Amino acid sequence: MRKIGLLIELKEGALKAANMGMITAAVKKGHELFAIMMETGMPGVRKELARFGVNHIVTVQMNRPDWHPTRWARAVVTVLKSLDIHTLMGLTSAQGKDLLPRIAAILDAPLVMDCVHVDIGKQTAKTSQYSGKTMATFHLTGETVLYGMRPNAIPAVVHPTTPHIIEQIIDVPEDSDLHVLEVVPGESDTQNLSEAHVIVSGGRGMKDKENFKILFACARSIGEAAVGASRVAVDAGWVPYAMQVGQTGTKVNPKVYIACGISGSIQHLAGMKTSGLIIAINTDANAAILAHSDYYVIGDLFDILPALTHGLEKNRGQDYRK
Ligand SMILES: Cc1cc2nc3c(=O)[nH]c(=O)nc-3n(C[C@H](O)[C@H](O)[C@H](O)COP(=O)(O)OP(=O)(O)OC[C@H]3O[C@@H](n4cnc5c(N)ncnc54)[C@H](O)[C@@H]3O)c2cc1C
Repeated sequence: MRKIGLLIELKEGALKAANMGMITAAVKKGHELFAIMMETGMPGVRKELARFGVNHIVTVQMNRPDWHPTRWARAVVTVLKSLDIHTLMGLTSAQGKDLLPRIAAILDAPLVMDCVHVDIGKQTAKTSQYSGKTMATFHLTGETVLYGMRPNAIPAVVHPTTPHIIEQIIDVPEDSDLHVLEVVPGESDTQNLSEAHVIVSGGRGMKDKENFKILFACARSIGEAAVGASRVAVDAGWVPYAMQVGQTGTKVNPKVYIACGISGSIQHLAGMKTSGLIIAINTDANAAILAHSDYYVIGDLFDILPALTHGLEKNRGQDYRK
């Protein structure tokens, strides 16, 4: 039997949906799951964690609870040591990318980020390599190991439990080397790319910044969809970097990815080719993206996207996440 720590992430007090897949990845007969909460969530959060199979909910109260990567990392290490936990899972999210490597460094423990599968018993983790050209399975050695799960990689399965609550009060000293001056929310008004179930992305074919409103309109007509972009669109200043999908942007794993005016460079594919269903809209019948698409339309996105948005709006209420 193993004790597994799960670093839970919240957004505005609510559980991020990606936590549930991470919990499912850890649920196995005999393992004892500890959901570690660095922030106080909304009232329904504990119930939701119980629905997916955690055995303990560890609520961490710090002398200074506001986000601070080094203080939080030291607080998580304190929790792990006090509960004798040697396996930690988190999300490969913006917060996870900041926190997990720091925790691994303090513990001098191996960490694999962006895992799409883990075998906790064998201490192996599967992740993509070389811009997504290959998948590799790593064997982690040592008593303490860490995994950063790719959001949405594992479908969540309900597994009800009645968790115990463990309250930890931790006094972490101030960090004189790193001060968080301000936390500024991203410019994008869409939901987080790495957690979105549907992404509508635009590339050079969008032609300018203004035209991205066509993509936002399409995303709104779908419902809970995010808008992404190729690097060309980001480098041109049309959209913020937070929206870039790809090797040097965000790696995404939605159920549906709609690539509009994107050619399908190897660097873009590296960030989205594991999507459940890929749809491309492109004027070029030889664009590389088409070979990676489940469906494609050869045509002008300025004709097709408004028609698609119109059709989706007519069928509002349909749940496209299923
Ligand atoms: C080290 C490195 C890292 C990189 N990281 C990333 C990354 O993270 N993400 C990323 O995206 N790129 C990345 N790139 C850049 C990458 O190589 C490509 O340059 C980029 O992905 C191309 O973007 P694009 O598909 O929008 O543009 P293009 O390749 O120029 O393609 C535009 C497409 O739009 C189509 N089109 C034009 N007009 C229309 C229209 N009206 N309707 C429909 N289709 C139309 C064209 O047929 C074409 O296929 C990286 C490059 C390097 C060297």
